[in-house]
Amino acid sequence: MNGPRKRVYVKSFGCQMNVYDARRMADTLAPEGYSETAAAEDADLVILNTCHIRDKAAEKVYSELGRVRRLKEAAAADGRRVVVAVAGCVAQAEGEEIIRRQSAVDVVVGPQSYHRLPDLLRRAARNEKAVDTEFPVDDKFAHLAAPSTAAIRARGASAFVTVQEGCDKFCTFCVVPYTRGAELSRPVRAIVAEAEHLAASGVREVSLIGQNVNAYHGEGPDGRPWSLARLLTRIAEIGGIERLRYTTSHPCDMSDDLIAAHRELTALMPQLHLPVQSGSDRILTAMNRRHSRADYLDLVRRLRQARPDLALTSDFIVGFPGETAADFNATLDLIEEVGFCGAFSFKYSPRPGTPGAEMDCQIDEDTKSQRLSRLQAAIERQQAAFNARCLHRSFDVLFERPGRHPGQIVGRSPYLQPVQVMAPASLIGEIATVNIVEIGSNSLFGVLASPAPARARESDRLAAGA
Ligand code: SAM
Ligand code: SF4
Repeated sequence: MNGPRKRVYVKSFGCQMNVYDARRMADTLAPEGYSETAAAEDADLVILNTCHIRDKAAEKVYSELGRVRRLKEAAAADGRRVVVAVAGCVAQAEGEEIIRRQSAVDVVVGPQSYHRLPDLLRRAARNEKAVDTEFPVDDKFAHLAAPSTAAIRARGASAFVTVQEGCDKFCTFCVVPYTRGAELSRPVRAIVAEAEHLAASGVREVSLIGQNVNAYHGEGPDGRPWSLARLLTRIAEIGGIERLRYTTSHPCDMSDDLIAAHRELTALMPQLHLPVQSGSDRILTAMNRRHSRADYLDLVRRLRQARPDLALTSDFIVGFPGETAADFNATLDLIEEVGFCGAFSFKYSPRPGTPGAEMDCQIDEDTKSQRLSRLQAAIERQQAAFNARCLHRSFDVLFERPGRHPGQIVGRSPYLQPVQVMAPASLIGEIATVNIVEIGSNSLFGVLASPAPARARESDRLAAGA
């Protein structure tokens, strides 16, 4: 690439898929001469990677765009052009409307068209307004550039890999099937190549992600569809990958082989995010979730039979149209019956174009707020109890970054809890065994059980012929 380097600032809202997409956009722009900056005011290109899952998301984007417009005007006063792009699900849902409402925007690009960003930016450089919200037939992933080794190292030892996108389930509250399109699984070969590249650059933990990740059915090297369990088993064989996770799963796609993988794959971490949304059969039916409360409880039983120490997190929606006090109490009962180590919980937010938004008996905001606080208090109690049970236990921790205090580093336990330890920064990117000595409100505190990282000890053991 000739010419001066340019700087791109990407601000991501929403889910892990957006975090992954933001990285792939930056990777795709690197050969075009862009390097990433964490400061919007230094950028030549600002990308807002938006989320549309709950209300006011679009309004948040417009108010953020107001700030970006002022940045753009300040840069123009200095004789510098800043290009503004809106990506993600708001871009997909609103399209050209974004440019009509905020003329500072030069590019609008939907999640299926990120590989076309370089072309869209060339059009913007010619002062065209460039909009691409198609669902193209070409494979976006095949055209997105791979990250450089330096970029992977800078992002740390834990990486996301999107294996599946879109959704065909059409839950009545959700916009994903409309903004991300039909369910699509990437081929096994491409995913394995990406995971091998990550491992060769120092990644130790891979989280396979997708809106409906356990519906994965990508083409295997044998030309047949592979399940998520088979894909996880294949990735676990890659040297250097010591930890695997996957998210987000739908209860209906929790197949027997995936449950068995929790027993058989030691690299698969004992923590699973399994959204249930509600504990009331009436509401689950109205949400079109396609499973009952009993199905969910039975699934939890089978998962815990396969992996007794499995820790579960979930998503809940309170105040779905028609939700009565009895329905809500059924959700609280389910929480008590399962015992979660954490959860995301939301007030139902009517999304334009979804069946839920048209339903009678919308619940008032006060009731939603009260139910949300009661539900969150129940989850917080369970989370605190789960953390308290970790005191005096030992875990392998994957260290991710320096802590807030000098000499401190922070990593994740197998259950995804942040663990803070006084230890050398050279352990960042490594896995080491930690004894938990104190429980904080948001994290655990520990001391190194041995000075050598688990990986180094394992290679010593092999070298000794053990
Ligand atoms: N595919 C996942 C599943 O089936 O559970 C969830 C994906 S969605 C991106 C993440 C979470 O956002 C959902 O589990 C749900 O709890 C929440 N959510 C989605 N639409 C919502 C809405 N209209 N109002 C409130 N919460 C919503
Ligand atoms: Fe949305 Fe998940 Fe339902 Fe798909 S399965 S429609 S992504 S909540």
